[in-house]
Amino acid sequence: MDFDPVAIAIPVFVALIAGEIVWTRLCGKRHAYEWRDTGTSLAIGLGSTVAGALTGGLTAAMLAGAHALSPLSIGWQWWAWPLCFVLDDLAYYVFHRSAHRVRWFWASHVNHHSSQHYNLSTALRQSWTSFVALSFIFRLPLALAGFEPGMILVCAGLTLVYQFWIHTEAVKRLPGWFEAVMNTPSHHRVHHAVNARYLDRNYAGTFIVWDKLFGTFQPEDDVERIRYGIVSQLGSFNLLYAVFHEWAAIARDVRSAPWGHKLSYLWREPGWSHDGNRETSDMIRKRAARDRDEARLPG
Ligand SMILES: [Zn+2]
Ligand SMILES: [Zn+2]
Repeated sequence: MDFDPVAIAIPVFVALIAGEIVWTRLCGKRHAYEWRDTGTSLAIGLGSTVAGALTGGLTAAMLAGAHALSPLSIGWQWWAWPLCFVLDDLAYYVFHRSAHRVRWFWASHVNHHSSQHYNLSTALRQSWTSFVALSFIFRLPLALAGFEPGMILVCAGLTLVYQFWIHTEAVKRLPGWFEAVMNTPSHHRVHHAVNARYLDRNYAGTFIVWDKLFGTFQPEDDVERIRYGIVSQLGSFNLLYAVFHEWAAIARDVRSAPWGHKLSYLWREPGWSHDGNRETSDMIRKRAARDRDEARLPG
């Protein structure tokens, strides 16, 4: 199937970003957009589109290979579509959780999080290196289960398109039933936050129910102000640095680490170090909870 929902949606993305910029001006929220940050986001989006065009055929070939190996074949039945979409969203959850907990996958995903702003242009920060990072492996089980590769790719595109509009501060909360089932701007603001208790939470693509099922859900607190970005902020709008900095950092760590620890810098969580000199998100969360408890003790 030669249908790419993301390519079709791009003009709508551009129109909505323009609309949000106008909205921020009218509401006195000028700080929501910073032109260098938006420029970097647009350039990363453009680059990821090129990378996707270059490697899309290889991803499709991997899915086709897995599908051919499988004795199962579901075909193009109408009922396979909703089933494929829901299961693909689960595969996305597993991918996204791994992308935050395994440094190899994080190196590719980090540029989605490197903006300190949260607006619709942030959504365009997609990976350039997802094929190199082998992110497609998370969708192979769907092909092995008998789903058509073309159907899987359309569902993956729809999940990505869905996630565009949730990158905004313009929408506070939606009706309760919608917030309960779907990923929303409120849930995804938490995902992009570096506040200690928000780290590594709300991995959902379309349905927030996965986070609730697997214990990674954190609702947004209306009192605590959200800080966006990554634990060690990029401090640069340089495009190539934004895209490749974590790969370069991994290479440095692997080179300088003692032999017994080299591979751990690839598969352990971001922030892990063999000498305990750095902090992982779990360590940051524990330290913040300890500080809160101590602050509560009578002096
Ligand atoms: Zn993420
Ligand atoms: Zn996002």
